[in-house]
Amino acid sequence: MARIDLVDLAHSYDGGNADPSSFALKPTSMTWRQGGAYALLGPSGCGKTTLLNIISGIVKPSRGKVLFDGRDVMALTTQQRNIAQVFQFPVIYDTMTVGENLAFPLKNRGVGRAEIDARVHEIAKLLDLVPQLDRKASRLTADAKQKISLGRGLVRADVAAVLFDEPLTVIDPALKWELRSKLKVLHRALDLTMIYVTHDQTEALTFADTVVVMHEGSVVQTGTPEELFLRPDHTFVGYFIGSPGMNVLPAEVEGRQARIAGHELSLARSYGGLPPGARIEVGIRPEFVSLAAAAPGLLAARIERIDDLGRSRFAHVRVGDLKIAARVPRGLSLGGNEAGLIFEPAHIHVYADQRRVEGA
Ligand code: ATP
Repeated sequence: MARIDLVDLAHSYDGGNADPSSFALKPTSMTWRQGGAYALLGPSGCGKTTLLNIISGIVKPSRGKVLFDGRDVMALTTQQRNIAQVFQFPVIYDTMTVGENLAFPLKNRGVGRAEIDARVHEIAKLLDLVPQLDRKASRLTADAKQKISLGRGLVRADVAAVLFDEPLTVIDPALKWELRSKLKVLHRALDLTMIYVTHDQTEALTFADTVVVMHEGSVVQTGTPEELFLRPDHTFVGYFIGSPGMNVLPAEVEGRQARIAGHELSLARSYGGLPPGARIEVGIRPEFVSLAAAAPGLLAARIERIDDLGRSRFAHVRVGDLKIAARVPRGLSLGGNEAGLIFEPAHIHVYADQRRVEGA
């Protein structure tokens, strides 16, 4: 396995001469740690597959280079880069048994019989495939075939990295749940560098130690699931991750005060010298806004609906034209639709043109 460096990568499918704002991948530099479990997360069309295909060598970038352990791999094919890949749909041989399918990537690399048997057994055990090792792959369900595809991607111990491109998209929801947490266990057991592409935040947050969030061709934040939750660097990260997503509200900010819809809010930090002309917003996750009985001093809100998720309840309220989601504390009883909002100052972030500003 390898450390992977992306150095000033950019890609346009129009040959690199297009307007940089329309690039499928805008200039990106980053390092993927050896042995890390990464998720590349973002909505459809944000450039995830483009970035993955540049790492594997399927797409040649318009600009920049990829290094494996410091070595430039741009002239190497996917096979020479020693990458294992798992795609959305199963890639297995129907005429072979499950065991033969798992052994195939090892045989192909000339690995000895004893080592093949040991490794196939280890992977089959981790994926609960031992009872099916001698069955013909053609007789298995599509879900079971995808499980074998995962096994084939993970079977080689000497790969630079394993790349997964939305591997659970077509899997039945019950098995998806099982495989999602199993992949995390597999990562720990096998100690491989893994990069997992998905548009599904639950898949990304369950699997990854580090989540790389992409938006419109750019990496907007790289962080642990907790960092993305507590300190979203970009308003997109705030509302894409979380359910409901972060409230992003137009505001005026001066020093330790923010004004939202004419209401003064105290901030935990001071914000001086915000860029003139920038769009200033505050972001606060619904978990840190509490619904309360209407009272002087609280931002007055009108409740539109309350979603009861069992473990928690969220109210969707309106303050003038603004829509805000807020946590409903247990036992709160309200007479009608009028309520007040309480904001936790430590969890209010300030954004200038969508980027988080560090307070002092
Ligand atoms: P999805 O989850 O839908 O696959 P993605 O985040 O992986 O999306 P990409 O497939 O990398 O995004 O696409 C990024 C942009 O590049 C999109 O605008 C897409 O239409 C465009 N694109 C992708 N592949 C090609 C191609 N072969 N030729 C031209 N444009 C492409």
